[in-house]
Amino acid sequence: MDQKANQVMAIILPLLEVGGIAYATYVVIYLVCVQYLMHPTPGFPVHPHPVDARKATGVALIVVYCILLLVFAVTFLRLLHVIWTNPGTVSLGEQREKDRVSTSYFDRMDAFICDYHGRPIWCSECGNWKPDRTHHSSQLGRCVKRMDHYCPYAGGIVSETSHKFFVQFLFYGFLYTGFVLIVMSVFLAERSKNSLSKPATWIVLLGLSALFFLFTFGMFCTTFYNLAINYTTIEIVQKGNVYNIAMLGKSSCPSSSSASAPTEQQQQTGILAEIQRTPSRSYIVVQTQPGENPWDRGAVQNIRDIMGDNILSWFLPLRMSPCITGRDQRGEFGWGPAVTKLMDQYGAGAAYGRPPKTRRRRSSRGVEHVHDPHGWR
Ligand SMILES: [Zn+2]
Repeated sequence: MDQKANQVMAIILPLLEVGGIAYATYVVIYLVCVQYLMHPTPGFPVHPHPVDARKATGVALIVVYCILLLVFAVTFLRLLHVIWTNPGTVSLGEQREKDRVSTSYFDRMDAFICDYHGRPIWCSECGNWKPDRTHHSSQLGRCVKRMDHYCPYAGGIVSETSHKFFVQFLFYGFLYTGFVLIVMSVFLAERSKNSLSKPATWIVLLGLSALFFLFTFGMFCTTFYNLAINYTTIEIVQKGNVYNIAMLGKSSCPSSSSASAPTEQQQQTGILAEIQRTPSRSYIVVQTQPGENPWDRGAVQNIRDIMGDNILSWFLPLRMSPCITGRDQRGEFGWGPAVTKLMDQYGAGAAYGRPPKTRRRRSSRGVEHVHDPHGWR
């Protein structure tokens, strides 16, 4: 599908979902609660419960339905608003040679993901350097920060700006569809027991609610698990890779003339390259161990980074994620122990200026598994 078709689908599918919600509202509130429970037509067969109890049940179901629909609808609108107005794309460069494009965005950071030469990762399609965890979306034709996946059901790209609202959308989505599923199952079973006809409108809603409940519940579990281990859907596929990280610091070993060819002494200490990025800032390039997630800060902190610092933020679709609002010079995202350990070990990054801890010899590793999605080496 080309980019235009993707964008059209990302509008059509949410509109179809709104249509589905309107249909569910008509069936649950009018057909089930009002017509079937509260005001059954004269001559309607006797039910196992008194009329007043059924009326109270009808009112209670309408109240619960409206509350669930309200929170789901507000979350859905917030998600669509963020995805359509602030999808987290990186600005397009002027398609120049990468050596002529400024890296000043990275040069103020303690550490960033880089290639073997200590340069940030380049996107030739956007003509720009990619901030950490950025992925080029073929659906948008643009680089997207902390891209998770393209979801036409949610109106477009799920990224660092919308991840929190996407999780809330799935959470309230499975509560809402789960409630509709239970209501339809119970009253269809009751009609069946009393040998009443089973309206097609009810059966259709039962099928739709079952389908979307399974979909939203499954997606919620997967997304929340990935959130807890701080991997995006794209990074999960690349799990097991090693990452090259440029850290503010200096090697105590003599430098080679070329940044891409470290001296034997540097290689023995695990330093892949050393590069002078600005007159006052030099960086060393080191690697994580295979499978180490540089941003994994423990399940609770990982969840807080996206969902918010307090429990209210977790449930309310209002504030943006702390990983965006709390960004500082330490890195594009908070570094986990896998990286802070390296910083301490080499006296680099945030630990720059502090005496390095005892260095252990790191074995050299093959280049085949290095995180370098576009192959810029
Ligand atoms: Zn790009």
